[in-house]
Amino acid sequence: MSRSFACTILSFASTLLAFIAKLLISHSRNRRRRLLSRLPVPKVAVFPLFPLALLLASCGGGGSGSHSAPIASLGASSYIFNGQMTGTTSAAQSFQLTNVGTAPLQISSVALSGANASSFTVSTGANACATTLAVNGSCLIYVTFNPPSVANCSASLTVTDNAATPTQTIALTGAATPGQGAGQTPDTRAAAMLSLMTQAEKLQLVQGGVTTNNTYGYTVPRGAAGWVPGNTRLAIPELYLADGSVGVGNGVGPATALPSSLANTASWDLNEATKYGNIIGTELADYGINVNLGGNTNLIGREPRDGRTFETKGEDPILAGKFAAAHIAAIQAQHIIGDIKHFSFNDQESGRTTANAIIDERSGRESDLLAFEIGVKDSGVQSVMCSYNLTNSQYDCENEYLLNQVLKSDWNFPGFVMSDWWATQSTVNAALNGLDQEQPNQQFFSSLGQVITGGQVPQSRLDNMVQRILRAMYAVGLFDNPQNIQTVPFAADAAVAQEIEETGAVLLQNGNNLLPLNASTIKSIAIISGHADTSVLSGGGSAQVQPNGGGLVQATQPCPPCWAQVIWDPSSPLQAIQAMAPNATVTFNDGTNLSSATALAQSSQVAIVFVTVWSSEGMDQPSMDLRIIDDGQITYPGSQAALVAAVTAANPNTIVVLENGGPVLVPFIGPTDALLETWYPGQNGGPAIADLLFGKTNPSGKLPVTFPMGDDQLPRPSIPQPPADGSIFPVNYTEGYNVGYKWFDVNNLTPWFPFGFGLSYTTFTVTNAQLANNLNNAANPNFQVTFTLTNTGARAGAEVPQIYLGMPAALNEPPKRLVGWQKVPLNAGAAQQVTIEVDQNDSSQPMSYWNTTNESWTVSPGVYTVYLSNSSAPSSLITVGTLTVN
Ligand code: BGC
Repeated sequence: MSRSFACTILSFASTLLAFIAKLLISHSRNRRRRLLSRLPVPKVAVFPLFPLALLLASCGGGGSGSHSAPIASLGASSYIFNGQMTGTTSAAQSFQLTNVGTAPLQISSVALSGANASSFTVSTGANACATTLAVNGSCLIYVTFNPPSVANCSASLTVTDNAATPTQTIALTGAATPGQGAGQTPDTRAAAMLSLMTQAEKLQLVQGGVTTNNTYGYTVPRGAAGWVPGNTRLAIPELYLADGSVGVGNGVGPATALPSSLANTASWDLNEATKYGNIIGTELADYGINVNLGGNTNLIGREPRDGRTFETKGEDPILAGKFAAAHIAAIQAQHIIGDIKHFSFNDQESGRTTANAIIDERSGRESDLLAFEIGVKDSGVQSVMCSYNLTNSQYDCENEYLLNQVLKSDWNFPGFVMSDWWATQSTVNAALNGLDQEQPNQQFFSSLGQVITGGQVPQSRLDNMVQRILRAMYAVGLFDNPQNIQTVPFAADAAVAQEIEETGAVLLQNGNNLLPLNASTIKSIAIISGHADTSVLSGGGSAQVQPNGGGLVQATQPCPPCWAQVIWDPSSPLQAIQAMAPNATVTFNDGTNLSSATALAQSSQVAIVFVTVWSSEGMDQPSMDLRIIDDGQITYPGSQAALVAAVTAANPNTIVVLENGGPVLVPFIGPTDALLETWYPGQNGGPAIADLLFGKTNPSGKLPVTFPMGDDQLPRPSIPQPPADGSIFPVNYTEGYNVGYKWFDVNNLTPWFPFGFGLSYTTFTVTNAQLANNLNNAANPNFQVTFTLTNTGARAGAEVPQIYLGMPAALNEPPKRLVGWQKVPLNAGAAQQVTIEVDQNDSSQPMSYWNTTNESWTVSPGVYTVYLSNSSAPSSLITVGTLTVN
């Protein structure tokens, strides 16, 4: 079997001394007003470093500073290490031992034993720890490290207590695996810590520490969006919570502006996703932030006009879930609590605090919830942010079904649920129905103590909240790893941002093989509009990154949302294009005067028009069609649609470069023109665009979202709007699980560009596609699609073969679902045998439907059809074979 895959091919603010902080004010039940306060960017300061586990910090050579870490309870008498590890690892360290028991301790000696004990010398020094330690008294234990840096330490400190038990052992936490101190699990360690806590200390941990004032703003340490105070007595670290969907957000500091999360998903390459998460995680760590508010996994196929599409991972639950999981895992690897949000069905910004998503159980499980299920299970994420909206008439942050049943019971999520900012609606209901931490302050959970005393909420529920938060902290290693605030390696990170953009940009049209441009023959290039002389556009809202090097902040902005700013990242496409074609005349025209723009286009060999569409949290696009978006467009004073039409008419060799959040439709461009979707291209967007246009990089991105022909092809041609009185309003998801391409399949609609589609400068074919049925393999039931992929063109490139599955007819599922894919780079002329395996028991439930009778994922008997393709377009599917399940 063989088939050809259809692949042919301003002025800058020099430094930002002010930036986005957080917003908001009025918290009445149904109305919220959000305002942005401009706060000075906090200086990068070295803060006292709190939570580290002793030995990992010490053994890993964790640098200098003042560290502390708690040690578990000892039963009858309790001991706590309050830390105080000072100096550098090459010097003697001292640990403070505090008696928090009820009786004095008679300490006769201390000694260290265990796997790495020979690496340490312990002495009691002059500061006691060999005498009587009164209740609440402290003494110091000195430990000398020899050699100074030892990996994988595990040791015990033995304190001989003459008064109580003859010998008691305190396990020094810290081991090779973060969070698994001395062989203990995060849950065990959390339980030990919980047992030492007073009620007040517990209550402090379940509420944000931000205090609002009457000026509609608030300040949080380290420029974060949220903060939970630490506990000095128990050496529980402070939590600093900051956004980071597309790079470090809020007022934390300048950061690498990554391309949109959606751009990264368009790479269809999970290695690139890991790199993406790694940049966010390492930069957060560099700023001393230990909780990331990223992981936006709302399914934009339901509402592609959503203002937050750029933060998300597309319309398909499996693709989105896998990318979210890869981002989160990479972030948590940096000892940062990851987050997945906004749980759930937060698929539009219009009326987001009063929108009531109505959806049946099976549809929910097989769409938005499936994306979250994969994200939660594959990444081990430790926090989930519940959303503003309601689902089936219950606010999500007190939604018993979503939080208690689905998340905590069915998925066994062990971490904690935090509210979106001011999304908490009640004290008792929220606590009983699964909320574990109110953010960013204590509007409702300030009365948690009272309702526990009054018997409305059991003590066990508070203990469970605290256990979940603590275990999250242990699980990612917050207690065990020293914070290391340091300078962000911007140059290296920008190079990764560029690679991410180059792997995620999607070539949508290439009339007459206009691209790639030939630098040696091209004589003149017109660069038109979109501030392409200096910068590229970024998305707004809480995900906004303050780009390294300062951004161009556009002063005028529309309402809503009045609190977000339009920020351009400092990377010049013009300069990069000129550098790529040094012998060509490259001229910029800002596009505001149609006749001068068209005159330049006409007199140039090639015209490149930059179409910029800003989107942000707090708003939705009125339409996907550029001609309608223009009405509310703010990045360009006139009609960009008119500009594109005029330039393409003036020069048949016109390239339209899109910088935008979600699908933007310009189907009125001519057949000879080229169209490159760059999303929001990030910190090095300029060079990335130049590399793609000139073929230094061969485009290999594929759409993670369908580009319809128009709004009328969507399940809801216009976005349901909130009533003027601010009351709750329904958003009926009658399309059920038929989201994105599934909706187009079910309704036989042909989009402008299908999901999974993207062109290359080379061509690929597949031959010998075969199906192996291993469903009877009890240990790992699976099927495999094997084929030969050949690069039949003259350039190296990468293709993304995609596996779709047709479910048994009786199930009434859409005609096909994506179940697997692989990105395969191939040199010109090279061929490779590729096997894509689909595991029946994978977290993505590729062969299952949600069975509402027994409330579980179920593989139904029947015939399954396996397709291989390079997009979701029915015309490009190759039927590889069928699988019969009896
Ligand atoms: C957003 C969240 C964000 C939070 C903190 C909210 O407005 O919906 O995504 O994490 O603010 O900035």
